[in-house]
Amino acid sequence: MSETEIQRTLAIIKPDAIAKGVLGQIITRIEQAGLRILAAKLIHLSREQAAGFYIVHKDRPFYQSLCAFMTQGPCIPMVLEGERCIQRWRDLMGATDPAKAEPGTIRREFASSIEANAVHGSDSVASAAFEIPYFFGTLEIYPGR
Ligand code: ADP
Ligand code: MG
Repeated sequence: MSETEIQRTLAIIKPDAIAKGVLGQIITRIEQAGLRILAAKLIHLSREQAAGFYIVHKDRPFYQSLCAFMTQGPCIPMVLEGERCIQRWRDLMGATDPAKAEPGTIRREFASSIEANAVHGSDSVASAAFEIPYFFGTLEIYPGR
């Protein structure tokens, strides 16, 4: 995939950010960055749904705790689209650990901890290809262009 190719990514506004009331501020950053929102919904994940989404982390020590955190309240998965969207959304998010995230990033501003870190973003074209259809069917994604 070329550098300027239009990509899609799976973003999630995590339960901690919704509980804190910073959903609007996060969506504003998406809009200001010029990333297009093609799909979004509010969903309270079951433990099984969270575990399936994070299956890539099943052997990590934080897996059970992460799955519990993701079921604490509703989250908002979204499909974002734009040029180099995967990396641009990761840049807006900041590092996984908010203490290490650049000033001005979403995680630096809004995350509570390395676990409760406000947002998710696909880390590659391959992970987006797994994560987008995990939450959205073809008919739920605005065709855009
Ligand atoms: P990212 O979300 O930045 O891609 P990872 O894919 O490594 O980070 O981890 C997935 C999620 O698991 C993180 O966003 C965070 O919620 C949680 N997590 C990652 N590392 C830890 C950790 N050391 N302790 C607790 N939770 C963690
Ligand atoms: Mg990741």
